[in-house]
Amino acid sequence: MAGKYLLATLGCKVNQYESQQLREVLESCGLRPACPGDVPNIAVVNTCAVTAEASRKNRQTIRRLARGGRTPVVVVGCGAAANGAQLRALEGVTAVLGHDVNICANLRRLITRQLESQPTSSVGDANHAAVATHDRPDACRYEISMRPDTRNRGHPSWAPRSTDSGDIITPVSNVKADSVLTARIERFAGHQRAFLKVQDGCDASCTYCIVPRLRPQLRSKPIEVAVAEARDLVRSGHKEIIVTGIFLGAYGRNTAIRKRWGSQQSPLAALLDALAQVEGLRRLRLSSLEPGDVDGSLLDVLARHETCVPHLHLPLQSGSAQVLRRMNRQYTRDQFVDMIDRVRMALDRPAITTDIIVGFPGESEEDFRASLEIARYAEFCKIHAFPFSPREKTAAACWQKDFVDATVIRRRMRRLAELERECSLSFRRRFLTEAERVIVEGSDQLDRQASAGQHVRHGRADRYFEIHFEADDVRAGDLVPVRIDRVTPTRTLGTCLGANADSYPLDVLSTT
Ligand code: SF4
Repeated sequence: MAGKYLLATLGCKVNQYESQQLREVLESCGLRPACPGDVPNIAVVNTCAVTAEASRKNRQTIRRLARGGRTPVVVVGCGAAANGAQLRALEGVTAVLGHDVNICANLRRLITRQLESQPTSSVGDANHAAVATHDRPDACRYEISMRPDTRNRGHPSWAPRSTDSGDIITPVSNVKADSVLTARIERFAGHQRAFLKVQDGCDASCTYCIVPRLRPQLRSKPIEVAVAEARDLVRSGHKEIIVTGIFLGAYGRNTAIRKRWGSQQSPLAALLDALAQVEGLRRLRLSSLEPGDVDGSLLDVLARHETCVPHLHLPLQSGSAQVLRRMNRQYTRDQFVDMIDRVRMALDRPAITTDIIVGFPGESEEDFRASLEIARYAEFCKIHAFPFSPREKTAAACWQKDFVDATVIRRRMRRLAELERECSLSFRRRFLTEAERVIVEGSDQLDRQASAGQHVRHGRADRYFEIHFEADDVRAGDLVPVRIDRVTPTRTLGTCLGANADSYPLDVLSTT
């Protein structure tokens, strides 16, 4: 009988993508997703480390899935790289894999060895050994024995072993990650829109960020590999692809430090140009860019292809010139404003979304007002606001005397949320009575309105905002034309104009 797995993902779009890779590894080993009520044979937790809150959620998720040590848990990702030793000590954790090893290869090896040793049993039932390694300096080499956990007799699981115990059973090679990204996925389970990771790593040094310590090596997916992967995703039914990376603007470069880039034309523009021409792909979206990434060639590609949506995610982090300097961001306030102007010139009423850190050490009222000012100017239709969270071994974590009071941070967060609602409402109002292409999300059962007897659907427009509309004859994943009838501070409501947006070419959509 096939074993069952549980896979939990925390964090960003890159983690979502990497979880799909893990899912493909687990399923190619014969495991199947556990359903509610099933007892999983293995749980994999793909962790995040960007904030203290993320670290708390990592631990909470691991504890929940380990079920008191009865389910063996493999912990991977940024949290594993940042706090390997701490997570390894949690009950039920049998392997900790950070980004210094090829996570997929190690996971496959772990499961394959288990299956080889017990061909007729499911994963987790064996009492033979397998080993995984985690070689970060802050997390000593770690060996795992897949023998019944003596703490839970009758509930076999993989019991962790330390090399210190002298009970090492089988060594395993530390399969290093490739210098280029070559691994591909074929579909994006559970999502209508698919993420496509084309870049990994960052060696910039924003003073609040732990990522360069966890993913220091810059790697890019060759254009032909990315295009082949995009074709597979389209063949699997995905109409939208979101191109992601840790530092997407550094695609095709060996450093994220822009002053070392030279004058070569944007490799990202060339990638987008190729992806935009993938047959059957209807929407291409970028995950995140900064002023130095948005050059003329990139804007030209975005404007030239109908597939490229008029939406950019441009993380501001702060609108204050001096806070940006202390953050060591690679742009000034003026360069950010200039980028907004250039984007508006090139694209039709673009949607601009952003990230802002609230309460960075030393952020004064005046600094915060500067963030509000740019947010209003850019009319960000979505602001991901994060209260500053000190991360161990980052420069900003040491500036304790400048930490902003938590009450002040909460008040500023509320103010930013109010402004976001105002900006979003005024942005969406511009599209009243116009038709937008929407990729239908959600399921019948979730969206059914018992009283009305009709299905209320929702989905994202090209410009990223969500639209709710009634329709019976559309399915999740369909691309449909929806006329915008009403906008409220929190919702956009519309009428579905047909079952297929292809019968409404874009020029008609924008003037309906
Ligand atoms: S650019 Fe800055 S914020 Fe982004 S991953 Fe690199 S160091 Fe972190």
